[in-house]
Amino acid sequence: MTSVSIPITAVEFGEDVEQLVLEVLRSGMVAQGPKVAALESGFAELIGVRHAVAVNNGTTALVAAMQALGLGPGDEVITSPFTFVATLNAILESGATARFADIGADDFCLDPATLPAVLSDRTRVLMPVHLYGQSADLGKIAPMAAEHGLRIVEDAAQAHGARQHGRYAGSHDIGCFSFYATKNLTTGEGGMITTDDDALADRLRVLRNQGMRQRYVYEMAGHNYRMTDLQAALALPQLGRYQAQVQRRRANAARLTAALAGVPGLRLPAELPGREHVWHQYTVLVEESAGVTRDELGAGLAELGVGSGVDYPKPGFDYDCYRSHPRVVVEETPVAAAVARCCLSIPVHAGLGDDEIDQVASAVREVMSR
Ligand SMILES: *Cc1c(COP(=O)(O)O)cnc(C)c1O
Repeated sequence: MTSVSIPITAVEFGEDVEQLVLEVLRSGMVAQGPKVAALESGFAELIGVRHAVAVNNGTTALVAAMQALGLGPGDEVITSPFTFVATLNAILESGATARFADIGADDFCLDPATLPAVLSDRTRVLMPVHLYGQSADLGKIAPMAAEHGLRIVEDAAQAHGARQHGRYAGSHDIGCFSFYATKNLTTGEGGMITTDDDALADRLRVLRNQGMRQRYVYEMAGHNYRMTDLQAALALPQLGRYQAQVQRRRANAARLTAALAGVPGLRLPAELPGREHVWHQYTVLVEESAGVTRDELGAGLAELGVGSGVDYPKPGFDYDCYRSHPRVVVEETPVAAAVARCCLSIPVHAGLGDDEIDQVASAVREVMSR
């Protein structure tokens, strides 16, 4: 195999982005302004909701959503144990207690069947995470929330544009998105909250701006959660190209799946019926029966110039700082623990063409056959 270098993620900005950033610089208006407003309306349209509220990152989006709901000490939020740590940190920042249902082995997202066991009379919010770009099973989770009078805060940081039965991730109640550098849409750092709830959107707008609706008139104790027009200028041109980017990711995923089918000991990710995956990550499972371990596959790929990543090495609560935290309830989540031991993400991003995807696949085949 010839020497390659295929990173797990890549950011590329076109000339249109450079132009727009320059326009903002020359306007002298670099803080939150018209570009942020334009990004909000474009993003609301993408997700099919009435309101999108821009904030300075995805973690903030989650925190602000819970603050706007009035969450605090004594309230419980049920989320996935298999996610980036930001999900858990946001719950703790809100003052609420974090509890965990398990994930499904097919979609790596909250398994609705495991939710009832962790519901309590203190549960206020269900927080599904649309991991790797595939929607969690909101078809089952949303009715459960309605039945128990719970709000849904979707962690859609990895799932811009993902759908289940035609319904967008982030459109069920309150959606939280990230525009961090590695995400499908990026502003370097940035976030967005989506909702059809007029009153909640209004609270969020006031909350992010020091609790002010008008200058020096304070309605609540707020924060500075604002995004800048410079950041919005990075994302605006990406919005127009977003569907094409998703199609490229989908084509790359399909090509990987075709090329890796039948490799012994390798379980491939799948788009489940009724769902539209946006392939933020393409994550394989290295089964115990395989000739190599997950870590050996990652190391072997690195030798061949192919990037990979472990998303995520352990359930979120499985660290001393959380196990000893008074507001983290540690639960048994065997599926999450098992998946964390054998998962490996390989390159699928939209910067890759067919030839590179074929190189990724042959590198995986080569290492798996050792
Ligand atoms: C990236 C990410 C976040 C946090 O977003 P930031 O913009 O990095 O703060 C939250 N949840 C998940 C699942 C993520 O992948």
